[in-house]
Amino acid sequence: MIKYIETDEYKQIYCPDFHDGRIQKVFLKKIQQEIYVCEECESLWFTLEGIFLERGDFFTGFLKDKGQITKDGFDDWNSILEYRDFVTFDEIKEIVDKHKIKVVVLE
Ligand SMILES: [Zn+2]
Repeated sequence: MIKYIETDEYKQIYCPDFHDGRIQKVFLKKIQQEIYVCEECESLWFTLEGIFLERGDFFTGFLKDKGQITKDGFDDWNSILEYRDFVTFDEIKEIVDKHKIKVVVLE
């Protein structure tokens, strides 16, 4: 489990694996599933709680395994996925409280 989570002034939370980007919701159209992906390193989690409990999977690798993409760079991303909002602190507050995770506000 991670020790702390970072959040910015807009209450968007940051990737606990590499502290490099915000975590964005991505909807996979073909399998009708919403997942959570770091905008920078492509770490991937399947649940909000997973962000705190396990290291991220790798987004592109996951899509390939699932047969969602076939060849690098030539897939029709619009038919595969839809980028949604970034995950905000309000959405993960209960998990933070439950696991007593420290919150670091970035300046
Ligand atoms: Zn990241």
